Amino acid sequence: MPTATQSNSVPVTVDSDKCIAHKGCTVCVEVCPLDVLAIDHVNGTAYMKFDECWYCTPCEADCPTGAVKVDIPYLLR
Ligand code: SF4
Ligand code: SF4
Repeated sequence: MPTATQSNSVPVTVDSDKCIAHKGCTVCVEVCPLDVLAIDHVNGTAYMKFDECWYCTPCEADCPTGAVKVDIPYLLR
């Protein structure tokens, strides 16, 4: 799979202004079948801990605040 254009970014990003992990939300972490998302307790937001993804998107769909954005690669759309 080509990686050249996005080598500096992970496929799933979390808007730290919207994320309510600091209020105890862990929905995206729980729904991810790959366990690649985690909560950063310092910042109080979820983040992509491992740069691996099936692009199945429940993390984006189930986030109660719409903070998760899955950037599906062009070639997979
Ligand atoms: S798209 Fe799927 S595999 Fe990727 S982070 Fe979200 S839940 Fe996990
Ligand atoms: S589901 Fe949304 S609000 Fe909850 S921890 Fe994940 S990104 Fe934050």
